[in-house]
Amino acid sequence: MITQVHFLLTYQCTLECEHCFVCSSPLSEGTFTPSQISAVLDQAGRLGTVDTVYFEGGEPFLFYPVLLEGLRQARGRGLSAGIVTNGYFATSEENARCFLEPIKTLGISDLSISNDIFHCENRQDNAARRALDTAREMGLPAMVLALDPGGSGPETRASLREEKKGVISGGSIMFRGRAAAKLSRYAEARDWRQFTSCPYEDLRNPSRLHVDAYGNLQICQGICMGNVWERPLDELVRDYSPRNHTICGPLIEGGPAQLAKNLGYTPPEAGVADACHLCWLARKSVREKFPGILAPAQVYCDR
Ligand code: SF4
Repeated sequence: MITQVHFLLTYQCTLECEHCFVCSSPLSEGTFTPSQISAVLDQAGRLGTVDTVYFEGGEPFLFYPVLLEGLRQARGRGLSAGIVTNGYFATSEENARCFLEPIKTLGISDLSISNDIFHCENRQDNAARRALDTAREMGLPAMVLALDPGGSGPETRASLREEKKGVISGGSIMFRGRAAAKLSRYAEARDWRQFTSCPYEDLRNPSRLHVDAYGNLQICQGICMGNVWERPLDELVRDYSPRNHTICGPLIEGGPAQLAKNLGYTPPEAGVADACHLCWLARKSVREKFPGILAPAQVYCDR
């Protein structure tokens, strides 16, 4: 039962993180308009099961008026709302308050702020920490999204590389999107045959979906149920048949290893970093054959 819809408000971001699932960067395109958000909310509302929306990206605060309008629309429909941000806007406590006051007025149930060594190399003084502290002082439900345990931070470029390698080998990274393309080489290589189930997503009965401005309704990043600009979200959800889905069917049957076999993909004998890495490689190899399902291009680092 779908209870959450996550708006990828924009693929554009202030950063270009090595581990980003959707390969966001300052040059990325694909940003919702307020009327598009309204249309998706109407579609989702007809399901009668969605109670929460998230605004994320990319960096949703880059399109602040659109973010506020989306939040206003969601709250006006009685939905809980969350935001995921890197907190870049908190150049000072005063500026952080400027950005956060209208959000507090509209009301949110979760403000997740990414702050780890991949987002902010200065671990002592950074905008994410300032955004978090300010949000908490204001009584907002703010929390940290972090890949590392919050170490004191590197002092040199060499120790920065070592600390990042420690996070990669520690298993906190899922190798999808840019993480698969850029970081998988630093992970321990494992035999692809062992990945016989999807470790993170309930593909049989998903509870949340991500949607972008191009209309891609994603069960996991880069695996679409369909396109909401071609068929409304509620129809796509009602007609979703997990076992008959070209990608989810094999994943349910035997994980990424089965998916690779079904798609005719030969995985590297040297091994892969994890289940998601194998899943992403297999899908990327046949993207042109299934453009409606294996989208958007961003997730496959093709744009
Ligand atoms: S194995 Fe594939 S479907 Fe499952 S979480 Fe990883 S990338 Fe997503």
